[in-house]
Order: sequence, then structure tokens, then C-alpha cells
Amino acid sequence: MRAWRFYGFNDLRLDDVPEPQCKPGHVIVEPLHVQPSVTEAQLAFGIRTLAYEKIKRRLETEAPVQLFGHEFSARIIEVAPDVVGFAVGDRIAARAKLPCQTCSLCLTERSHLCRKGPIIGFQLPGCFSERAILPAIALVKLDDRISDSEGACLQSLSDSVASVETADLKIGNSVVVFGQGSMGLECMQIARLSGAGQIITVDVRDEACAVSRQLGADHALNATQCNPVEVIKDLTDGNGADVVFECAGGSPKQGLAGERTVSQAIDAVRSGGKIVGVSWFGQPLEIDIDLLRERSLRYLFPDISTRGHLEHTVHLVASGRVKLKETITHVLEGLESVPRAFEITAAKGKFQAINPAQVVVQR
Ligand SMILES: [Zn+2]
Repeated sequence: MRAWRFYGFNDLRLDDVPEPQCKPGHVIVEPLHVQPSVTEAQLAFGIRTLAYEKIKRRLETEAPVQLFGHEFSARIIEVAPDVVGFAVGDRIAARAKLPCQTCSLCLTERSHLCRKGPIIGFQLPGCFSERAILPAIALVKLDDRISDSEGACLQSLSDSVASVETADLKIGNSVVVFGQGSMGLECMQIARLSGAGQIITVDVRDEACAVSRQLGADHALNATQCNPVEVIKDLTDGNGADVVFECAGGSPKQGLAGERTVSQAIDAVRSGGKIVGVSWFGQPLEIDIDLLRERSLRYLFPDISTRGHLEHTVHLVASGRVKLKETITHVLEGLESVPRAFEITAAKGKFQAINPAQVVVQR
């Protein structure tokens, strides 16, 4: 079969590789739609972000290697005899980070806290290929009302569900979301469904602000046309918001906000309020801890997404309560277009993309 393999940073080739062989606890799938995550797109070009050192080491010691491809929808074509709950023909999506199933946390029903398991696309091959082998514990069945294209977004959506759950919103809480890329728009929609009061979003792109308003933000501020912190203060009686999601930070080379939105998030949250840090930065940040201490701020990071979160995404999208179609701006045909999808996803601002660019591998 054909699969994309990395020979180094910025060097991926469509190679003929052996067919994956099914084994206990696993299924074989044909990927339908697959998209690079923003992190994967940055790593593909050797840009420092989450897991950069680990990927660099794998490339130096194991290349060529099948990497990335944890955001996908796929159809099952073979099921190991010991797997229950899945059948040939089922359409599925998957969560990426898996429990190890052997440590003391996993053996005492706390596998959501385990960080020893593999990640699809990093330690395990992902879905930038004609077929793939996947552990059944990663999977969720897609409802018929969910398209192949929407199905490829569920992994990211499950991380957004986990992020909003981490915020532990109270009914009527005012919410600010910095960044209206795919995860920012998802967090906004899920916060709205979870009882948020006033919702204010911030982006620097008019098209992202327009989608944000369309999907339910009360105010979508373009930070190039106003001082977002001042406007947020005005809209919250001068106090700031109860909860702020920071989904905009990261390398400015990729059109992300750098570190600026971290300080804006701190300025935009009320004293005693919560900031949920969703972004990855690829380098250490300087933060004034005394300021957080003085204002009793809670700077939280999302829990890992579990099977429960992934199952919830199926309900949210199938019922139309979270809308994804509006965010899917680029869909490319054929496995050959994978490098183009990486290029667009690594520079979404330049290509006016909101969701990562998707590739249709199979219909
Ligand atoms: Zn474990």
C-alpha cells in the first residue's frame, strides 16, 4: 500500500510499504478524510512546538518513518477476533493519546491520568496512508448524521470538550475565547452549550470573527481594530470575564499570536477567575507569578481527552449542537495532496483557513 513517510523535517515521500497486519485488540481501517493537526503541520517543517525533540530523535534514528495523521475518519475493513463492539464497515474516529493499560493508574480505573501510553501518529502510525492498524480502545463509531469530513474533526473536538470541562463553568459565567481557529471556535460553541452567559471572542481575521458570530459568539472582536482587553472590561462592568480560554498563542511565523494573548488573557480575566491555556508555544514563557498570586488567578491546563469526551463529540455533532462544516475551509482530493495540506495548515492565516486542510483519501 502507499503511505507517506518522513525522511527528515520537510522531507516526506509517498512510498510503497507493507500492508499492516491485524493483531489482538486492533482493527484495520481505510482512512476516509484525514487532516494534519496544527502541531503536526509545524513539526513536519521542523518548527519547534510540542514534541519537537521526540520527533527529531525519531527522524535521526528511525527514518524513513510513518508519522502523524491522528485526526481522521475511517472505515473498518478487518477486526481482530477479540475486539468487541466494532464490525467491518463501521465508520470510526479516534482519540490520539492512549492509556498504557499496565501502570498502577490504568489498573485502578484512573487511566485518564496515565501519560505512559502511545499517541497515534507519534509512537503509532497514523492515517496518512491507504490503510492503517488502530487499537480498538482508541475508537468511537460515527453516527450516520456525521459526514466523513466532520468525523475527521472529532479528535480535536474531544480536546476542546476536555478543555471546557477543565474550566468547570457555572451557569451564566462570562467567557472570553482568544483565537477563533478550529479549537477556539469549538471551545466557544461547547462553552455556550455548557451554560456560559455572555461570550466574547477575539481574533485578528475578519473571516474568523464572522464565523464566530454566526456560530454563537455575542461579540467577536477583531484585535487589529480595537484594544480587546479594554472592550472586554467595558462589556463585563470593568471586572473582566469569569473564564478566559487562550487558544491563539504560538509561533508568529505561523500566523499565531506569539505570547501576547497570554498577557491579554491575564488582563481580561476577573480576579479569582480562570484561564484555560489551550495553546502550545514550543518554548518557555515568562509569566509574572506574583501578579497571578495577587489576583488569585487560576491558570489551568486541559485534562487529557478520554473515550467519554470523544463519545460526547459524536452526540454534539450528530445532534447539530456543535457545528463544524462552517470551519472546514479547505478539502483536497487524494492521498497525493497531503504535502499541500501540511503547507496550508502550517500557515492557516495566509491561506484563510480555519480548520486544518483536509485530504479525501477514500470515499
Ligand atoms: Zn497507564
